[in-house]
Amino acid sequence: DATPEINTRLWSTLIRNLTPYTPGEQPKHDNLCKLNTNENPFPPSPKVAEAIAQVLLNQADHLKRYPAPESDELRAVMAQVYQVAPNQIFVGNGSDEVLAHIFACFFVKDRSVLTPDIGYSFYPVYADTFHVDLVTIALKADFSIDVDDYRRPCSGIIIANPNAPTGVLLPLADIEKLLQEHRNAVIVIDEAYIDFADTPNASAVSLIDKYDNLVVTQTFSKSRSLAGLRVGMAFANHSLIEALNRYKNSFNSYPLDRLAQAGAVASLQDNDYFVACNQKVIALRHDVTQALTQLGFTVLPSQANFVFAKPPASMGETLQVFEKLRAQGVIVRHFNKPKISSYLRITIGTAEQNQRLLDTLTNLV
Ligand code: PMP
Repeated sequence: DATPEINTRLWSTLIRNLTPYTPGEQPKHDNLCKLNTNENPFPPSPKVAEAIAQVLLNQADHLKRYPAPESDELRAVMAQVYQVAPNQIFVGNGSDEVLAHIFACFFVKDRSVLTPDIGYSFYPVYADTFHVDLVTIALKADFSIDVDDYRRPCSGIIIANPNAPTGVLLPLADIEKLLQEHRNAVIVIDEAYIDFADTPNASAVSLIDKYDNLVVTQTFSKSRSLAGLRVGMAFANHSLIEALNRYKNSFNSYPLDRLAQAGAVASLQDNDYFVACNQKVIALRHDVTQALTQLGFTVLPSQANFVFAKPPASMGETLQVFEKLRAQGVIVRHFNKPKISSYLRITIGTAEQNQRLLDTLTNLV
């Protein structure tokens, strides 16, 4: 079929120059072993479905009303779980939306924002969209961050912790160093994967009372198995949260729909399920790391629900390994960027999925 020609003459130069984010593949058929987008291999707490069903069955009439604009009940439950005040929480449709608001609100147009040269690929997209001068700082040879390299004037810093796609964790003491060094810049720590860290105290949320320039984002997409519900949040000093709300309310951006708010509350209320599920993923990550290492892979020390690993030379070029896995129905992620093109990012699956990955790799040698 001929693709209809798009009349770019009618688009503004601004839109034509944007480079959008390319989402990971979401295959249509089920026979594939999908280890490419860092979703949780386990279902969400059954309490989530019960809560959503409850709205649909018993409160369907409420659906004719707009949802609570600031997700009050959800924020109240979140405040208890995360031990912060409700006015220190901002809720959005996934942390990607929260991050978009953060770029728009806090990163000053044409002033620099520092970020690692290997990091979450949405940051350059937002920087482009909001005209932020994103300055990349090289990771060390072992893919860790040296916070001393961030000693330069900037209006903000954004770091995923654990970092993506590497999985490497920046210790809290280093985050405090950044915060002390940059009292007048907004420091954003994107903790999409923090619940998979071996140490339970790795989160910077505990620092928001101490540093009024800190914003920590988290998501229900990974550790709460709710990527399909779109729930993300930011924790920060109440005045930064007020700025985010002011920005959000300046155009028609609603927070969460009624089903998402009800499901998210139920997820938070089932802490035992959450903890058990994370422990399973962490244990599986250790197993996969060990098995890949035995196959000759170089595996970075991951604190996330994925591993960043380089195949042994005996398996051929990394891109070929990626393609051969794909041909066998195992989808992982390959980054076509010079510094990391020799690595694969592999999401931790169920024990069965991981075994399929390992068996397929074994047959490649
Ligand atoms: N931050 C990082 C580092 C991520 O990898 C992702 C998921 N791709 C997100 C944020 C956004 O996740 P979500 O919008 O599903 O909350």
